[in-house]
Amino acid sequence: MTDVNLTLEDADALVMRVLRTNGCDEANARAVADTVMAAERDICHSHGIFRIPGYVASLRSGKVNGKAAPTVKQIAPGALQVDADRGFAPLALERGRQPLIDLAREQGIAALAVRDMHHFAALWVEVEPIAEAGLAAFAWTAATPMVAPAGGTKPLFGTNPMAFAWPRKDGSSMAFDMATAATARGEIMIMARDGKQAPPGAGIDAEGNPTTDPNAILAGAQLPFGGYKGSAISMMIELLVGALIGDKLSFEAGEADIKDGGPPPGGELIIAIDPNRFGDPDGWLAHGEKLFDAMKAQEGLRLPGERRHQNRLKTPSEGIFLPKSLYDTVCGLEA
Ligand code: NDP
Repeated sequence: MTDVNLTLEDADALVMRVLRTNGCDEANARAVADTVMAAERDICHSHGIFRIPGYVASLRSGKVNGKAAPTVKQIAPGALQVDADRGFAPLALERGRQPLIDLAREQGIAALAVRDMHHFAALWVEVEPIAEAGLAAFAWTAATPMVAPAGGTKPLFGTNPMAFAWPRKDGSSMAFDMATAATARGEIMIMARDGKQAPPGAGIDAEGNPTTDPNAILAGAQLPFGGYKGSAISMMIELLVGALIGDKLSFEAGEADIKDGGPPPGGELIIAIDPNRFGDPDGWLAHGEKLFDAMKAQEGLRLPGERRHQNRLKTPSEGIFLPKSLYDTVCGLEA
């Protein structure tokens, strides 16, 4: 089946119509569409329009509040909390971003704890603007149980992504953003949809045997990246976004979720650091560039995020390409 080619503007208009028709108010629709379209613009299909049926499922089931009005409050000298009002993550994160940047500049470091939200997106969208404002930023969130801890055979951790962004001298950023599962869930779902095999080490079947069949992995468990090392990082993320901020661990989110196909309930932690307030206010930016230059002196190497940034230059003129079946599904959600 051929792909459908859409301009970014037409794709954005389609996403906005679908979100509004299904119960989002303007602010929530705009924030979700901005997040979805950032993924499409950078050609990160697993967190772009592919997610729209899931967003709509949760609006229709009533699990997610499409008219959420997130509120921000300061809970400690260096900590902000956003009550996301049971909404999708993007508006809550947007409302918390500038207060976080301001507090980090004031104090050197600040944290933003977002609670009672539903996250269905990529994290780089959230840390890049903070780095473009001149700060280093970390983000973590959990999910539902999909990943067996190292040594175990049953799903317990989420695919628990983490992202980090660092300011560049040209005003852009270096951002990496990775699931702590060996392979992101969305990628496994796309492999299952397209009849492709998953890479070795991606997961185990329901009996705990290693497999590359994406459907068997979806019925069994994914595995953490890097064995016990990735498992420890995933455990840390559970603690940060569950126990620390007072929201759900992945297995608690799994118990609470009504499994309508949309994002589970949960929280997120973002930490922003102002390098100007640490040891080398005049030199840190050039010092970071020195590292990137030394890395890039090795032939064939690219920095994390460069693939996206190159795609970002192409899609405004070339548009995006959606599988026809996905396009038809999303158009069908307008009614
Ligand atoms: P990838 O493994 O594709 O990429 C991870 C990171 O490594 C990216 O920053 C990527 O940069 C970088 N990278 C990839 N290849 C190279 C290379 N050859 N050299 C240098 N850097 C490289 O991502 P994942 O599959 O782990 O995760 C995909 C997305 O899924 C993430 O955006 C994550 O936030 C999201 N996710 C969301 C969840 C949620 O609950 N909301 C749960 C789990 C994951 P680049 O982008 O430039 O390729």
